[in-house]
Amino acid sequence: MTTVDLPLLPLGLGIDRGSERGVECPGDLPAASDPDLVARALAAKEALGSRLFVLGHHYQRDEVVQFADVMGDSFKLARDAAARPDAEFIVFCGVHFMAESADILTGPGQQVILPDLAAGCSMADMARLPQVEAAWRALADAGVQDLVVPVTYMNSSADIKAFCGRNGGVVCTSSNAETALEWAFAEHGDDTKVMFFPDQHLGRNTAVLKMGYSLDDCVVWNPHLPNGGLTVDELRDAKMILWKGHCSVHGRFSTKVVDELRATVPDVQILVHPECPHEVVLSADLVGSTEFIIKTVEASPSGSVWAIGTELNLVQRLSRAHPDKTILFLDKDVCYCSTMNRIDLPHFVWALESLVEGVVVNRIEVDPDTERDALVALQRMLDLPGKTHKD
Ligand code: SF4
Repeated sequence: MTTVDLPLLPLGLGIDRGSERGVECPGDLPAASDPDLVARALAAKEALGSRLFVLGHHYQRDEVVQFADVMGDSFKLARDAAARPDAEFIVFCGVHFMAESADILTGPGQQVILPDLAAGCSMADMARLPQVEAAWRALADAGVQDLVVPVTYMNSSADIKAFCGRNGGVVCTSSNAETALEWAFAEHGDDTKVMFFPDQHLGRNTAVLKMGYSLDDCVVWNPHLPNGGLTVDELRDAKMILWKGHCSVHGRFSTKVVDELRATVPDVQILVHPECPHEVVLSADLVGSTEFIIKTVEASPSGSVWAIGTELNLVQRLSRAHPDKTILFLDKDVCYCSTMNRIDLPHFVWALESLVEGVVVNRIEVDPDTERDALVALQRMLDLPGKTHKD
């Protein structure tokens, strides 16, 4: 029996500070209707000066990213923070696993703050360490564990990165997933298998569309079923063992909307993130990371028509930044990352004003053992040849 029952804590109401599910915000937040919020944020930022460095993820709200010193994807932001050792306080406008990565990569004199601890990531939360360790034992029972290299997406909790570091594995981003898989598949010769966490879509899309494996080479490990829902023979035959996780934002896009847009919008080009389901990626014109999407739109000629399958805040900003191009969202419904959106102006102001008063709130601190092992897996990624390391 390899299932692990875990309590499902509703976002914002849990008590587990190490979880992507977050905890209740204990702060005395300013009212969202306070007309002085922008002025208060500016004043607090100025008071903190170079002691403060604000990071803004591409999927964040406009009301928050207007205060970001730098914007980017999760890995770029963590590296940017590490490159500013004079910044004592890193306020990370993103989600929990990103703040963890920043804490791992920054120095001991830097403190990483997440303005709302309920800003977790539902995908990262789909692979919890007890579940992963149970799966690892099942691979041993099936006689294949020695052949399996664990690979985790950057979008995972620090303890999953540490698990990969302890077990000969690596971290990857959506930009370097192919290079990471090439490295992993070379570890044990032709018999190598990869167990990929937590996003089944990125793992499948990379293995099948970039590396030439077939869909039959891929199996899905469901942590809520005995033995992952797989037979021993299925585990022995598989090349890619995909964790049953997905992004709640990118998982929404569908070929139905792609077909409708192609039928109704002349010259539309479909541009999607590799966290989208396989059939959506297959139906797109271009697929790539957040940075790839931004650069592709920037480099496209005036008059281009794009339908983009990624988080709505980013698509809206791209649309406003390029009024000479038509930029559509690849879904009929509003589709923000709800946990990213937890970081709003009241939480941001509260975090900064607390720092001005000498109180560090919502610090994200990875324990030393986890940090050491996670760094091993991150360093293996940094040592990969060639490709960029952006997600
Ligand atoms: S967009 Fe998806 S992967 Fe990114 S933080 Fe939100 S749920 Fe997680």
